[in-house]
Amino acid sequence: MKLEIQSLSKTYSNGVRALKGIDMVFSNGMFGLLGPNGAGKSTLMRIIATLQVPDQGCIIIDGKDIKQSRQDVRKILGYLPQSFGVYPDVSAEEMLNHIILLKGIRNKRKRNILVEALLEQTNLIDVRKRKLGGFSGGMKQRFGIAQALAGNPELLIVDEPTAGLDPEERNRFHNILSEISEDRIVILSTHIVDDVRQLCDQMAILHEGEILYYGRTVDAIDNVNGKIWQKIINKDEIADYHEQHEIVLSRLYAGKICIHVYHSTQPEGFEPVEADLEDMYFKTIKKIV
Ligand code: ADP
Repeated sequence: MKLEIQSLSKTYSNGVRALKGIDMVFSNGMFGLLGPNGAGKSTLMRIIATLQVPDQGCIIIDGKDIKQSRQDVRKILGYLPQSFGVYPDVSAEEMLNHIILLKGIRNKRKRNILVEALLEQTNLIDVRKRKLGGFSGGMKQRFGIAQALAGNPELLIVDEPTAGLDPEERNRFHNILSEISEDRIVILSTHIVDDVRQLCDQMAILHEGEILYYGRTVDAIDNVNGKIWQKIINKDEIADYHEQHEIVLSRLYAGKICIHVYHSTQPEGFEPVEADLEDMYFKTIKKIV
């Protein structure tokens, strides 16, 4: 399947220009849409999911403009929104059964088989009879994926899925996403750089409604490799360093601060460090050139 986004723009009634003429192409596999809060990610996800309409531009799936075929898109779409409610008194099994019934599968035996497969796939089989209200954050997210996968969608959109998950749950969630992305388009929208580095072959950086990078994740890292330098400094020195260098990122390190700067040649007192996607991401959104 091929999903194309052409010149997509959206301005809210309060004047916020959430998307400023976005162009992108997606094919099977996992695509990471990375950007800080307010970048326009959810707006873009909701427009692709046909829950919102753009002011300008279009979305084309396999050559067909979705304006003409909203229902067709909904048939092939699975969507896990940023926050979604669950019915607290219903079990995972009952809820999935109901969703699959709504998808038009009337045969009870068929439904049971599909529900069991979804519960297996998302590691919820042991808690299938438990009420959703008693689920942990990670279990709820996995249930979210299960409901989004009901009907075997060709296009799956997940919006900020790992925020608030502990490392083990995050890992489990990653494994599920990576497994299911082999034969469909999965768009992962997130502000967590590591999620994109670990999972996505292709990515884009969205900032203030504009695409600042679009391409392969490895190429994104290659763009800055050899130009990132590191130094451990005292906390009270940070202001001076900000004045003298383009600091890409800084993080606490054993009570001191480890800074990364972007420079074409080695600045005095700094040591080379292998670039990570975080370096490229922060350099890009800070527009250091
Ligand atoms: P992200 O998902 O990257 O955090 P959003 O798409 O939620 O970004 O928001 C993009 C911009 O649009 C932000 O400035 C946000 O405040 C604004 N925005 C989002 N939804 C609305 C809305 N319904 N009405 C007005 N402004 C909105």
